[in-house]
Amino acid sequence: MADKRDYYEVLGVSKSASEDEIKKAYRVLAKKYHPDMNPGDKEAEAKFKEANEAYAVLSDSEKRAKYDQFGHAAFDPASGGGSGFGGFGGFGGMDFDFGDIFSSFFGGGGSSRSSRNVPIDGDDVLARVTITFEEAVFGCKKEISFGRVEACGECGSTGAAKGTSPETCQTCHGTGRVTVQQQTMLGYMQTQRACSNCRGTGKIIKTPCKNCNGKGFIKINKKLDVTIPAGIDNMQRIVLRGQGSAGRNGGSAGDLVIEVRVKEHKFFTRERNNVYCEIPISFADAALGAEIDIPTLGDKTEKYQIPEGTQTGTSFTLKGKGIADINTKRKGDLILTVTVETPKNLTSEQKKLLQEFSKSLGESNTGKRDGFFKKLFNK
Ligand SMILES: [Zn+2]
Ligand SMILES: [Zn+2]
Repeated sequence: MADKRDYYEVLGVSKSASEDEIKKAYRVLAKKYHPDMNPGDKEAEAKFKEANEAYAVLSDSEKRAKYDQFGHAAFDPASGGGSGFGGFGGFGGMDFDFGDIFSSFFGGGGSSRSSRNVPIDGDDVLARVTITFEEAVFGCKKEISFGRVEACGECGSTGAAKGTSPETCQTCHGTGRVTVQQQTMLGYMQTQRACSNCRGTGKIIKTPCKNCNGKGFIKINKKLDVTIPAGIDNMQRIVLRGQGSAGRNGGSAGDLVIEVRVKEHKFFTRERNNVYCEIPISFADAALGAEIDIPTLGDKTEKYQIPEGTQTGTSFTLKGKGIADINTKRKGDLILTVTVETPKNLTSEQKKLLQEFSKSLGESNTGKRDGFFKKLFNK
């Protein structure tokens, strides 16, 4: 956080402030911005957190010394300055848990965030599937199996055994929260905390459902037929909204995220929507030109005319014979690169023919090579 305010500035004290001055300054701010005093006020909440964070550091002589020396970098895990400061690595602005300091002032651990009755969205679930190169090119249907949390069907996600239902907690009258009045260092205060009798749920389950052990939710293995669109590439993800784990208390379900891995092909490789293929051709075909069979997508072959005098490494682009884009459906190209195979294991008859052939070659046939040697020997 680059725009983090200076901790001394936050508390409104000088750099030479005594422990007592820091404590006093914090008390004033904590009381002013406490969430229970400012319900729903996001700015006050932010100020409250900021003050807590500043106090957590400046009230601890060791941390204060580090802060004086390194500034915020001392507690920022990303800056590298945090290494070596044991037990303080995870201290980042928003993750800051002020429960401990807060309770040292107010006597209770309860902050305003622990209600269990609020809607909680379900988790996203990640599944992986491996498909062939062709399946990626043309699309396919796959059965995907994955684990997700679902509402228990036995108890209708109440967690209470069949024929019974959860009872309203008598301690909090179903609100899940209790108000505590207490004398604190800041004076007489009313604070709310999660009800310990029902652990904030507002309900008591006397006979838990056997299917879900009273949790109301169970983890199941689910199978789903998923259409994988044509043109998908390796490591791309398909997101199926709402197919992840169920939400609680009316929260929405998470997503199913399918990571697609595409197997390598025997001779095709892919780059975006273009397909590359290396084609071996004979020395004679390269020299004379020939109509050769080339592979195209979908296990088909096609005729292709190689021109006379083709050199090894030459590429030919077949426009629109590549992969159709997953979104636009525009097709990429098929790019063939030929490699000329030098004949091996010649018979003595063949060698003789080739020697005669070699003698017959003039400069116009091997211009590149002759030019190279001329340059090399400066002739
Ligand atoms: Zn159940
Ligand atoms: Zn309760």
